[in-house]
Amino acid sequence: MIGANAMTTGERRTADHDDIAQNLRATLTQLRLWGLREVILFGSPRPDVLPSLDGEASASGGKTPPMPEETPKRHDAFVEASPPSDEPISRDERNRKASLLEDIRRDLGDCRRCPLHRGRTHVVFGEGDPAAPLVFVGEGPGADEDRLGRPFVGQAGQLLNKMIRAIGLHREKVYICNVVKCRPPGNRMPEPEEIRICSPFLIRQLEAIRPRVICTLGACASRTLLSTTAAISDLRRKIHVWRGIPLVATYHPAYLLRNSAKKADTWKDLLEVMALLHS
Ligand code: SF4
Repeated sequence: MIGANAMTTGERRTADHDDIAQNLRATLTQLRLWGLREVILFGSPRPDVLPSLDGEASASGGKTPPMPEETPKRHDAFVEASPPSDEPISRDERNRKASLLEDIRRDLGDCRRCPLHRGRTHVVFGEGDPAAPLVFVGEGPGADEDRLGRPFVGQAGQLLNKMIRAIGLHREKVYICNVVKCRPPGNRMPEPEEIRICSPFLIRQLEAIRPRVICTLGACASRTLLSTTAAISDLRRKIHVWRGIPLVATYHPAYLLRNSAKKADTWKDLLEVMALLHS
């Protein structure tokens, strides 16, 4: 391995530029999600001919074609992404994965394997594309998820949807699931024993899908898949590997709703995810 001291000046400059570019992308992504609509670049055309990022005419009257609501365009400085280069997946392969997931859901059944079944309304299995390139793994269902039987549909789910769009994907093109499939009472953290009993189903889901990247949301999912008790802050900013699949750990959207200062760090993690998807 080449140490930092052995880098040439040119290599150091490139590394610095990469760092600056990554930080800039993270900041712009964050600003967009906070509502910034337009960026004016030095040396670029006059503001009145700049494209408006949401497709409306710019404040100074420039006319731009409307942008479809959720489709990133190349001039959108905040969403660099085009969707990851989709390696064509055969219909047979997609059907095979879908069928494996159906088998797992069938095996789960009306599960009463752990005490969490007592307070649940629905088992929240997970949803999304069986051939998804990216799987998000959360902790467990909350009240909205328990009521509807779907993962991440409450406020945290809305934020997750924004995070997914920020990396150029759509919710239906990823897969979303949790470590435990039933709501812990009062939204408490699942107990180790509940995780031990339920997580084999998560592992089967991940093995069935075999995505290109796994993104764990929060400490519970990260610790479960990485078999560690480390803090989420220590697990971030590294690319882990779970059974041969790159894994990026980041904060849970519910935590971000309470700690918006952590959003900037989360966008950096999402950029890692995006880079892995495009690699
Ligand atoms: S949390 Fe998992 S193991 Fe426990 S009852 Fe629900 S589905 Fe079964």
